[in-house]
Amino acid sequence: MENKKIIHRCRHCQSELINNGKVCPTCNKHQKWYGDFLNLSSVTSLVMVILAIVQLVLATSERSKAEEAFKKAEEVKNENIKVKTAVDVSKIEIDRAKEEILKIGNAVIIIAEVIPRSTGFGRGLNDSDRLLLEKNIKLIKEYSTKH
Ligand SMILES: [Zn+2]
Repeated sequence: MENKKIIHRCRHCQSELINNGKVCPTCNKHQKWYGDFLNLSSVTSLVMVILAIVQLVLATSERSKAEEAFKKAEEVKNENIKVKTAVDVSKIEIDRAKEEILKIGNAVIIIAEVIPRSTGFGRGLNDSDRLLLEKNIKLIKEYSTKH
């Protein structure tokens, strides 16, 4: 019976491998495709690449969190500006209303001064009094229909 022992040869230099070794004794190369990568510096490099990727992912997520916070802050700021604008508009409207009230008050005072000069409304008034009266009555009517 013939010896059927299979002879394994190095995939790089074709030398005979003793006991089907994983590393060729002649050329010192690994027989598995991934063997060449399994040295310390390669593993270290790989770990460093993975760490770099992890750091990148973390940094990206931190950045997006920061961007989100910034966006929220911007929204709050814009909301504050809107509120401030509304308050400013209200102040202007209040000032306008005050002005109108003063004008109406003034008109009423003028009318109250003019009326006693006559014996009755529109009677015994001179032309300038009549004009003053009409002008101020018109003014009061305008304000009362406007609001
Ligand atoms: Zn070899």
